[in-house]
Amino acid sequence: MQKESKKQNNKKEKKQSSAKGEILDAKGGKKPVFKKKVAKGAERAPEEKKQTKSKRTSQKSEAKKPEVKRTEKKSAAIQREESKRRYASYKSGTAHFDEIEETAVVTKKKAPTHERGGKLKVISLGGLQEIGKNITVLEYGNDIIIVDCGMGFPDEDMPGVDLVLPDFSYLVSNASKVRGVLVTHGHEDHIGGIPYLLRAINVPIYGTRLSLGILEGKLDEIRPPSEPDLFTVEAGDVINLGVFKAEFIHVNHSIADACAIAIKTPVGTVFHSGDFKLDVSPIDDKIMDLTRIGEIGREGVKLLLCESTNAERHGFTPSERTVGSSLERIFAQYEEKRLIIATFSSNVHRVQQIIDTSAKHGRKVAILGRSMVNVIGAAAELGYMDLPDGVLIDVADIKRYRPSELTLITTGSQGEPMSALYRIAFADHDKVKLTTDDVVVLSASAIPGNEKLVNKIINALIRAGVRVVNDSVEDVHVSGHACREEIKLLMALLRPEYYMPIHGEFRHLYAGKDIGEFMGIPSRNIFVCEVGQVLELDKKGARIAGSVPSGKVMVDGSGVGDIGSVVLRDRKHLAEDGLVVVVMAIDVSYGMIVSGPDIVSRGFVYVKESELLLMGAKKVVESTLSVSLGKRVRDVVQIKNMVKDDLAKYIYKETKRRPMILPIIMDIC
Ligand SMILES: [Zn+2]
Ligand SMILES: [Zn+2]
Repeated sequence: MQKESKKQNNKKEKKQSSAKGEILDAKGGKKPVFKKKVAKGAERAPEEKKQTKSKRTSQKSEAKKPEVKRTEKKSAAIQREESKRRYASYKSGTAHFDEIEETAVVTKKKAPTHERGGKLKVISLGGLQEIGKNITVLEYGNDIIIVDCGMGFPDEDMPGVDLVLPDFSYLVSNASKVRGVLVTHGHEDHIGGIPYLLRAINVPIYGTRLSLGILEGKLDEIRPPSEPDLFTVEAGDVINLGVFKAEFIHVNHSIADACAIAIKTPVGTVFHSGDFKLDVSPIDDKIMDLTRIGEIGREGVKLLLCESTNAERHGFTPSERTVGSSLERIFAQYEEKRLIIATFSSNVHRVQQIIDTSAKHGRKVAILGRSMVNVIGAAAELGYMDLPDGVLIDVADIKRYRPSELTLITTGSQGEPMSALYRIAFADHDKVKLTTDDVVVLSASAIPGNEKLVNKIINALIRAGVRVVNDSVEDVHVSGHACREEIKLLMALLRPEYYMPIHGEFRHLYAGKDIGEFMGIPSRNIFVCEVGQVLELDKKGARIAGSVPSGKVMVDGSGVGDIGSVVLRDRKHLAEDGLVVVVMAIDVSYGMIVSGPDIVSRGFVYVKESELLLMGAKKVVESTLSVSLGKRVRDVVQIKNMVKDDLAKYIYKETKRRPMILPIIMDIC
């Protein structure tokens, strides 16, 4: 058994044996919990081999099952002890679920809270009134589950910040309650925060193969302190996590293997849409599971959390397949040209269509950009892509082919300055040089905030004599998100009692509210919430009940959360007005200047043309010093402030600018 797992070369396989949740199929039958890292064709054999191990896993989890339910009335002392021990083991990287089991024995006989009429708390720690960092927390008694844990990108008022994370402090302070993270799909705004969450608390992660495949790539870059527990599920699986029973339901989206999640809780079912659209002719022939959604609706839904990204757009989002017909037209129209097509690396169906169309037209395909190469590799390995023989070539070999025989698939559809397309557009790519024989297709629309960057690339391409085809010319992109009619359809099937629009800025959430009202949900039952607000549900109803710590945690380089508003304010100040440093040495006890003042500036004025100004500044500082020292001021801090004030006044009078002024006084005594 051991050897066989090793042979499959899957280092995370061992985690099956520590399965904590129990996976059932939709009809309640048990399914083995394990991670499948094999391509479609090879799936059966390893699965069978693992049968015994998996069975053991199921039994083990069954034995553990009551544990999570019966920890409700733990005394404070036991809880403290437990969390102390857990923290110590997380730090030493030895945490595993046996420990939780152990403590469960102590508390076995306590009655579960839900039998006494408890409350369900639904808290979004991100993704409300903002795009990105989606994360929803469900809490009941002693159990917490998390749906998605994404990251966001910084906006203009966060100079130097690389990415933005949700504030995890609520989860950290309730770490012993957290039973797991359920992942709807593998986009950054849904999984990008997981490596950082795992640094703070050790929780098992449940998601479909592709989502976890992409997550594993991230975990290789940002390693958590202990080996994470990743459990592969597929649509139809049901997982028991404490009082919660979560069912994964297949939906269509711009990434394969996306799911909505229906969560049975003691107060009723909560349906989380994830990101979705309805595609009735999807590339992989798997249509969103409307039948199951209808059944869940019939069983009754307490609360719907529905994504709102496209809630302002009328009609239905077109099928991914429409892009295929546009590609056909483009390939026919530009038969003689080399095609360079930029798209999102995670949209494996789009990439598949580009490769298929290329093969059909006798073109070879070269892949550019690290994330494109990685995702295509992972998707092909996991069986999500079918790469025809002899079509893919190395980018180093493109010289051997005529333009009409080549398609290049590249990253950079959002104008990212480090991407392959950007470097190609600005003649900075060592293997791809643009000529008038090139046509660039942008098979993506700019995510809000990226428009300027995308324009910059388009301008550079056109300047280089290249023809650019984007979605204003041809239907080379379709959205992955539901428009109004699709949201209505979901509501009609689910008929939720309460509704909370999620995933979007205020305008999107509000458009979602409109749809809900149109569908007959009373407006008092619709909650447009803020990040951190607690939506509380019980048998009697739903209400906003306070809030928990939440916000934006900024990541700059390897520092997480060390950038606060003060640092950002300084960065902005420096970026906008520059810096003036005044250096001087004084002997405070004698009240005399020993050396200086010397004035150095950066980003304030061009020094060579501002000698007069800087000489004037020097004089101002000298007179301030002689006045203050003359008045027998001996406190260095006070002298610093006087220098700063007088210099600021002088500079503003002369230039109408307010640079940051930094006096450095050495007291020599
Ligand atoms: Zn998505
Ligand atoms: Zn999303």
